[in-house]
Amino acid sequence: MQQKVKIFKFGGASVKDAEAIRNVKNILLEYGSGPVIVVISAMGKTTNLLERIAEAYWQSDAILETIVNELKDFHTKVVNELELNDTAFKTEFQAIFELLDRKLSSLPSSNSHFEYDQIVSFGELLSTKIVAAYLIKNNCSAYWLDARKVVKTDHTYQEGRVKWNDTQSAYDKVVSPLYASFDFFITQGFIGQTDEGMTTTLGREGSDFTASIYAFVSKAESVTIWKDVPGMLNADPRYFSGTVLLKKISFTEAVELAYYGASVIHPKTIQPLKNSDIPLYIKSFIHPENEGTVIQSSTKYDAAVPSYIFKENQILISLTPKDFSFIVEDQLTEIFALLSNQKIRLNLMQNSAVSFSFLIDSKYNLDQLLDNLGRNYKVKYNENLSLLTIRHFDDKIIERLTANKTILLTQKTRETARIILK
Ligand code: ASP
Repeated sequence: MQQKVKIFKFGGASVKDAEAIRNVKNILLEYGSGPVIVVISAMGKTTNLLERIAEAYWQSDAILETIVNELKDFHTKVVNELELNDTAFKTEFQAIFELLDRKLSSLPSSNSHFEYDQIVSFGELLSTKIVAAYLIKNNCSAYWLDARKVVKTDHTYQEGRVKWNDTQSAYDKVVSPLYASFDFFITQGFIGQTDEGMTTTLGREGSDFTASIYAFVSKAESVTIWKDVPGMLNADPRYFSGTVLLKKISFTEAVELAYYGASVIHPKTIQPLKNSDIPLYIKSFIHPENEGTVIQSSTKYDAAVPSYIFKENQILISLTPKDFSFIVEDQLTEIFALLSNQKIRLNLMQNSAVSFSFLIDSKYNLDQLLDNLGRNYKVKYNENLSLLTIRHFDDKIIERLTANKTILLTQKTRETARIILK
């Protein structure tokens, strides 16, 4: 019987330099019995650099040439360090730079989102070319798979929405027939393609999602995301000491934690895996022998360890109708429409007879929001707050985590306590 496919995903930090790429090869050989679809991000901070390149191109900024050279030098250095001297590889590698040069010397269209995708996608093309060449040089059976031949999206540039049926057929046609011929399919995270063959991206940090797209269409046995942390922790070690590894949690718990702000996995990643009951492992690429976290369907272990999530830079806004009427559905509809137009996400909300309060990140354009709300409401706001979310709390934990702080608001359900602190 055909062995089931496994999906491995390596993020930017796991391929940040030549040494890291050697480590990826070791992990593949040790843990990846084929076929393995290996989803790879751009190297290190390349996507940020490409965002600057896209911006400079869009603005016709003279800095463009300097930052493009930075990108080329960085990748060429890694190629040299890995001693990738094969002529066919060198030609293909140069061809990617030439494609980028050609793009950057043409005039931009009027759609900046489209232009962003055409440029920023180069990071993953370069990293996967290098990793595939390094594996082949080391006698691994590796195939460079262009993700754009598989991941089909609509035209929402910078935030491509996956066309699942088209992606499924493309996968069955392009990848399945090659299972017997290769162990490792090296492919790009983050990128896809429209019906017309234009490159799209899936949103920043989208490579985790790519891994789960591949898992869904290949009916994979499992997905493993290799990271520079030991797995999913019950709290961010930057804010809390004595953090504990969550060894086994449910898909639902993982979505909740991601929603509340735990940043270990991209929130979109879970849904396709939950639908097909494909377990997701999060493991350390530094200590691959360690167990890590598994996210799977059973909810049995969720309450074993309480999790704490801290969100800083929060603003609490409170509205009272100027005519002192009750806040009812009509007003709420109007307020939500305003927020949705400005693409503002609420982190928490609460209402009473004559007021409605909500908490948002401080990154939004506050002046514009206050102007809009100020037409019909008296607006008060409180800045520099933090939101503490505790899953599976008890009163002692709340006391400990809120000691010496002013509590502005608390909301509790059976599983979750959410507290706004000053
Ligand atoms: N390279 C992309 C980014 O940095 C996608 C990813 O790594 O997930 O956002």
